[in-house]
Amino acid sequence: MKNLADQTIEQTERLGAHNYHPLPIVIAKAEGVWVEDSEGKRYMDMLSGYSALNQGHRHPRIIQALVQQAERVTLTSRAFYNEPFAELLELLTGLTGKDMVLPMNTGVEAVETAVKAARRWGYRVKGIPAGQADIIVCAGNFHGRTVTVTSFSSEPDYRDDFGPFTPGFTIVPYGDLEALERAITPNTAAFLVEPIQGEAGIAIPPDGYLRKATALCRKRNVLLMADEIQTGFGRTGKRFACDWEEVVPDVYIMGKALGGGVLPVSAVAADSGILGLFEPGSHGSTFGGNPLASAVAAAALRVTEDEKLAERSLRLGGELIAMLREIRHPEIVDIRGRGLFVAIETRGPARPYCEQLKEAGLLCKETHERVIRLAPPLVISESDLRWAAERIAAVFQLI
Ligand code: PLP
Repeated sequence: MKNLADQTIEQTERLGAHNYHPLPIVIAKAEGVWVEDSEGKRYMDMLSGYSALNQGHRHPRIIQALVQQAERVTLTSRAFYNEPFAELLELLTGLTGKDMVLPMNTGVEAVETAVKAARRWGYRVKGIPAGQADIIVCAGNFHGRTVTVTSFSSEPDYRDDFGPFTPGFTIVPYGDLEALERAITPNTAAFLVEPIQGEAGIAIPPDGYLRKATALCRKRNVLLMADEIQTGFGRTGKRFACDWEEVVPDVYIMGKALGGGVLPVSAVAADSGILGLFEPGSHGSTFGGNPLASAVAAAALRVTEDEKLAERSLRLGGELIAMLREIRHPEIVDIRGRGLFVAIETRGPARPYCEQLKEAGLLCKETHERVIRLAPPLVISESDLRWAAERIAAVFQLI
């Protein structure tokens, strides 16, 4: 007889498409920064659902909002109004300083929304000839998995045999201002950029890049659209990663932690000169802005602000990097990060370290072969963080 965990893994591998390569652990329970497998063994979550769990697993205030709203109304569709959505709009426009918000569900839907908004703005405001709008993106980007968004990925694994692709995108090297300047044409509607490239291995652009790119975009009448889906809501030690360079993008694209690790909630925030170009029927989503997700997102935002998670991330991230830099192991090529968004770059494959870390009670996942991404929930305590750093040091001595 197989135990329950083996059975779960076997069923998943037999019946589910193999579009992920999970570590062999079945998570049965979770609270805060800790998860438990089906045999009751505890692990620290250093992945946080790819930064969707900044507030920790099952934060009591978010769960309370979920339960209370579930007892009232869960779905209205946007054919009617609902109170939690209005409340979420107030909060998100307040936090971003933008006039308007358009809600969706997953991150990639918010990116698609931003692409549509930029194209509309390009034609209706900038005066780009019909069908000619171009959006500049960066090599190494990750903005999601739909066909259009995959169209402007530079990663062969994400694209192979998924064409034909959507035209209208130009790829420039990340961090290269001159390349950006050269790529801008009168038909450029927008520059879409991650302030830090998470999936690319926590790639931090040169100091001043974002600020200068914003100035360049303003000068050339190009929208700057920041994908803050992974970096937003405190992950990098600021509310938004753009805040590191005091940049206010024209368009904020948000997701992941906006749903408090409970429900998929994403959104685009921009001024009315951009988002006001959508009229009824031009865009939408059955579940976008639903009362249950909106109540959860409103609670998630309140927790992030009330618990000062960005400040916490800044302080603890600095401590984590300092502790990791003491490891000094020949296999470690680089340790970098902002806030609790930290990468250990290894000389060889990172996967064996992640497997060993799991044995040591710490869950994280390699990204791009040679990077261990460490992104614990931002509610982590100092002592838990120290515990994690000690486990990491021990695993490096082991391999
Ligand atoms: N943009 C960025 C920067 C991301 O990191 C991700 C997900 O990892 C996405 C977009 C896509 O979000 P989702 O998986 O919710 O569609």
